[in-house]
Amino acid sequence: MSSRSSWAEPYKIKMVELLKMTTPQRRKKVIKEAGFNTFLLKSEDVYIDLLTDSGTSAMSDVQWAGMMRGDEAYAGSRNYYNLEKSVKDTYGYKYLVPTHQGRGAEHLISSILIKKGDIIPGNMYFTTTRLHQELAGGQFRDIIIDEAHDAESLHPFKGNVDLAKLESLINHHGAAKIPYVCIATTVNMAGGQPISMDNLRQVRELTSKHGIRIIHDMTRVAENAYFIQQREPGFKRKSIARIVREICDLTDGATMSAKKDALVNIGGFLALNEWEVFEEARNLVVVYEGLHTYGGLAGRDMEAMAIGIKESVDQNHIHARVGQVEYLGQRLIEAGIPIVQPIGSHGVFLDARRILPHIPQDQFPAQTLAAQLYIDAGIRAMERGVVSAGRDPITGENRFPKLELVRLTIPRRVYTQAHMDVIAESVMRVYNRRSKIKGMQMVYEPTYLRFFQARFEPI
Ligand SMILES: *Cc1c(COP(=O)(O)O)cnc(C)c1O
Repeated sequence: MSSRSSWAEPYKIKMVELLKMTTPQRRKKVIKEAGFNTFLLKSEDVYIDLLTDSGTSAMSDVQWAGMMRGDEAYAGSRNYYNLEKSVKDTYGYKYLVPTHQGRGAEHLISSILIKKGDIIPGNMYFTTTRLHQELAGGQFRDIIIDEAHDAESLHPFKGNVDLAKLESLINHHGAAKIPYVCIATTVNMAGGQPISMDNLRQVRELTSKHGIRIIHDMTRVAENAYFIQQREPGFKRKSIARIVREICDLTDGATMSAKKDALVNIGGFLALNEWEVFEEARNLVVVYEGLHTYGGLAGRDMEAMAIGIKESVDQNHIHARVGQVEYLGQRLIEAGIPIVQPIGSHGVFLDARRILPHIPQDQFPAQTLAAQLYIDAGIRAMERGVVSAGRDPITGENRFPKLELVRLTIPRRVYTQAHMDVIAESVMRVYNRRSKIKGMQMVYEPTYLRFFQARFEPI
């Protein structure tokens, strides 16, 4: 699919939020005050915010109208039942436990299914997912194909599971030690890369043979479905909704951060097909999130989510959503800037290793590049490299991931194509002066998920 084939946003704009422009002097000052960590910048100092696609979507007028129909009863809110129906109709899972966001659901499922010493294989880690697995006493094992760790590989489904890796884990530890396999659609940390239906079917076959569950991290399942439709033989004529359903039907339960695919600013859920697991989750949610019919959300949030889920599987929506990301990525490729390819679904990932080859990984090349992008034009990106990877909980050593990336994450329905051009031009400017950029040292390191609050200084 060519990114230049004309498409337009499948909506018109009814309300705008004015952006603030800043000066280079101000940006230099505030990034220093923020410890060169883009998470610590104030939003008002940011021009184009590409920190995350999480909770940053623009809601539709229908969703906003739904917000006005919030039933704020403590128990049994009408919006809960609307959400339950939306999840059942769209994804097919039988039982629903709402949570305040994705990690709430991860906490519940990890506490319920993982025992000390268990192994949880997954198609690459995600920060909060792995941490909840570890806090529950489990250990994560990466079973993604090797191509996923290679920023230059053009494999169309870099989210695929390496079945030999999974099989050898099962043989080595025994199925009893593996409560579930965690399958993400699309794989965030690999650069928004999809898993193919064929591969998922094979994972299903292998896990079924051993009586192992698949828990689906379905945060970007509609985006994954779009890639399957575009790239996998036999899916051209199938609707996104149908492909999404087919993916979910191959799994036993799911954690959802509705702040991504489902077009809301806050919300998530745990969805299950097993009654016993659901019963425990419904018990446990009361302790950490709230009653099982609101899970830490207002009624209006659940209503917006119920509507957003349906909008997320619309063909025009998903085509424009992924199309915009591809447009930006294509401009950078044409300018010769090293990015992760194929271009992912929710953002463009700059390959900091190749952009700043003179900065060793222990001087945080991706963190440095993100800070430089902010200084150049007020564009806020995020590090996805050695800082995000954290330390090994057993040895305490830094984990040095193969991928050292800066993520330019595109919020859904928020920015225009002209913004994409401004972003591309800023990346090109920073790239052109790359040899003058120096690395950094970490001067403050939090214990958990350090990338959120760590501080740095230039060397
Ligand atoms: C964002 C995200 C999560 C966690 O969800 P939150 O809503 O941020 O708690 C889990 N998995 C993936 C792949 C994500 O992108």
